[in-house]
Amino acid sequence: LYMSGNAIRQRFLEFYASRGHKVLPSASLVPDDPTVLLTIAGMLQFKPIFLGRASRQVARATTAQRCIRTNDVENVGRTSRHHTFFEMLGNFSFGDYFKREAIHWAWELSVKEFMLPAERLWISVFKEDDEAFNIWHDEVGVPKERIKRMGEDDNFWTSGPTGPCGPCSEIYYDFYPERGYANADLGDDSRFIEFYNLVFMEFNKTEAGTLEPLLQKNIDTGLGLERMARILQKVPNNYETDLIYPIIERASELANISYMESDDRTKSHLKVIGDHMRAVVFLISDGVLPSNIGRGYVVRRLIRRAVRTGRLLGIRGDGKGNMEGAFLPVIAEIAIQLATDIDPYVSERSTCILEEIVREEQRFVQTLERGEKLLDQLLRIALSSANENGNRRACLSGKDLFLLYDTYGFPVEITAEAAEECGVSIDMEGFELEMENQRRQSQAAHNVVKLSVGNIVADDSKGIQHTEFLGYETLHALATVE
Ligand code: ATP
Ligand code: MG
Ligand code: MG
Ligand code: MG
Repeated sequence: LYMSGNAIRQRFLEFYASRGHKVLPSASLVPDDPTVLLTIAGMLQFKPIFLGRASRQVARATTAQRCIRTNDVENVGRTSRHHTFFEMLGNFSFGDYFKREAIHWAWELSVKEFMLPAERLWISVFKEDDEAFNIWHDEVGVPKERIKRMGEDDNFWTSGPTGPCGPCSEIYYDFYPERGYANADLGDDSRFIEFYNLVFMEFNKTEAGTLEPLLQKNIDTGLGLERMARILQKVPNNYETDLIYPIIERASELANISYMESDDRTKSHLKVIGDHMRAVVFLISDGVLPSNIGRGYVVRRLIRRAVRTGRLLGIRGDGKGNMEGAFLPVIAEIAIQLATDIDPYVSERSTCILEEIVREEQRFVQTLERGEKLLDQLLRIALSSANENGNRRACLSGKDLFLLYDTYGFPVEITAEAAEECGVSIDMEGFELEMENQRRQSQAAHNVVKLSVGNIVADDSKGIQHTEFLGYETLHALATVE
């Protein structure tokens, strides 16, 4: 069975609507919730109901929620299944039905509506959750071999450091059933994909880290739309589905290349652009403008990474012979068209969205062009001095990284990416030390944003209210560039 992304979304909502769920609109990417920076899951808009702080208007609801997960930014283009922006289809019960119905419906949806072969579906349950195990095994009829008991990391879901949570049960699709049951590992990305998570929300995690039972037992689920589209459209990764591929095609046109004939690295660059453009379009549409703090910094980083990635692909200018022109808006146009299927409001805001993107790209290109020259030089020096010293691996020092960051406004993960491409390692510890020195020297300590490669946004988010990044523009004006 082939289904378009839009058809999958509609089928999901109709399935639950016909089982007494009210179809509600997606909430904004900007949550009404201080514990998270951006909307990371469908349950977020219902948190007050789960916690018993707001009374429910309906007992059952279903949504297609737009989500951003910045913790997955490093996975974009590397795994076949992660995006920063994705849609989570969900069905919710507010003290109404619980495990039994949630499990039976999820199964029925998977095998009867989406026509997934039952023998390809694997289940995970929380290791202590015999009740869920038994429903899957005794009632649904899934053989024991395909039900895995897993630990807290995978099968106890929490929306943040505090808040509603509970054990969960996930459904995985097996791309290679011929590999058999022995040694099957659900975490093996090349064989399995997790597509549906059913959370049995019955606890509240307090500040102290203890679990208190909620007044009612709730159901919160999430099915990844792009993942289901990938399965049903029989493509090798989420990026090649009709939800994202048109953006990638436009980017490859501008780069004068063919995605399908490209090597893995080039494909991965194109995936980054496809992903980031969707995220940027929706963030700006939801009112998040590029800036140096909090959410605005997320947009800024995504735009800048897309620009840098486009340049790696050789894209310069808007592809209409105007080399001064920005190219991201040309790609964003497609992302906006696709976004309109998700949220018609996006097209109303398209002019504003495109303007913001142009402005940010132009600003960044100026910075980049100066920094890129220096970066090339530093990489060449590192490579040749490693050569002279025998087989030692070439490395950019903490001082180099800091110079690029501090004087040229080069985000350290962009430097890291460029270095990796040349087989040069980077001294992150040295960089952190330089940062620490500067922090100590800085009179206005509160004006510094900590940057780290691994966890770009989690760190930023800690200081949302009071951090201000003085980077690119300010430091530039002061910098003497050759
Ligand atoms: P994974 O283990 O693959 O990272 P997860 O367990 O973190 O996924 P959940 O928090 O359970 O994901 O979210 C519910 C569903 O949302 C997942 O089963 C998946 O279908 C989808 N999903 C989660 N994260 C992403 C992402 N970064 N990109 C696309 N879809 C996602
Ligand atoms: Mg995850
Ligand atoms: Mg998981
Ligand atoms: Mg999960």
